[in-house]
Amino acid sequence: MKVAFLGLGAIGAPMARHLASRYTLSVWNRTAERAVEFARATGSRAAASPADAVRGATLAVTCLPTSREVEQLLEGPEGMLAAFDAGATLVDCTSGDPATSRRIAERLAARGVGFVDAPVSGGVSGAVKGILTIMCGGDESAMQRARPVLEAFGEKIVHCGPVGAGHAVKAVNQALLGIHIWSLSEGLVALEKAGVSTATALDVINASSGRSNTSMNLFPERVMTRAFPRTFRLALMDKDVRIAADFAREHGVPSPLLQLASELLREARRELGEEADHVETVKVLEAWAGVQVGQKA
Ligand code: NDP
Repeated sequence: MKVAFLGLGAIGAPMARHLASRYTLSVWNRTAERAVEFARATGSRAAASPADAVRGATLAVTCLPTSREVEQLLEGPEGMLAAFDAGATLVDCTSGDPATSRRIAERLAARGVGFVDAPVSGGVSGAVKGILTIMCGGDESAMQRARPVLEAFGEKIVHCGPVGAGHAVKAVNQALLGIHIWSLSEGLVALEKAGVSTATALDVINASSGRSNTSMNLFPERVMTRAFPRTFRLALMDKDVRIAADFAREHGVPSPLLQLASELLREARRELGEEADHVETVKVLEAWAGVQVGQKA
């Protein structure tokens, strides 16, 4: 079976690596050297264009920043749309937006191509280990074609509903992540400023009802150590939370916290830049308050 993978970024590359060992794989990346290097290291083929990657493939996987880039890759003589065989399936692992995915699915369906939105959760480490959670939207037959390929890098694969459902669930999850990071940052910065040991405070919180993945893993490993590895860009989390805020608004749901979280993360992105990691958000609150979490022993 021939599979194509487009978008060898921080999480796309380790996902694609699992496919290289199971399928005849073609890879395409905007910065071509990355695809050439990946192909050399994994025995896959570096494609010259999106069309070249998906031609003859039964299934193609995209993992790009937003749905906008996925839509762009469909276009033109070197785009995917004109090159897909009828009966092929596009599985979009981008954390995208439901409305654009529905539009993409309609355009593909007109050419006999299936579509599944399949955003992932579990971070770069989950992708390396092949244990991602994958939330999917699409019809049952497209889902059945996607599942065996998704099993190469996913552990929990859940069909959430029609096209767009996977992206909607992912956006809500990301909003929770953004809110946890922001609220824990506010709390720990206040404790630090008041002279309370934040290491002690985290220890207590992690044995109490306010704990979360953010308090149990992200902060101990990345903030308290000041390691701040760059695994998931704040710019992408800002994009995700905006999708959740827009999604709630489009459905007429009062969502003051989602709207505020989106505004705050946009501001953090403005202050920290496009390359900052999502956990570095705490640095904005530290700068505003003039303290650094973890200084008081
Ligand atoms: P990166 O920023 O590391 O990589 C983005 C990828 O998209 C690169 O391959 C980049 O190519 C490509 N790209 C960017 N702009 C364009 C464009 N205009 N046209 C074509 N290709 C483009 O992102 P991640 O790999 O971290 O994230 C990818 C998706 O996965 C996002 O939707 C993100 O929200 C989601 N995600 C990420 C997680 C993580 O931990 N990193 C966790 C869960 C979901 P180039 O090499 O040329 O820059």
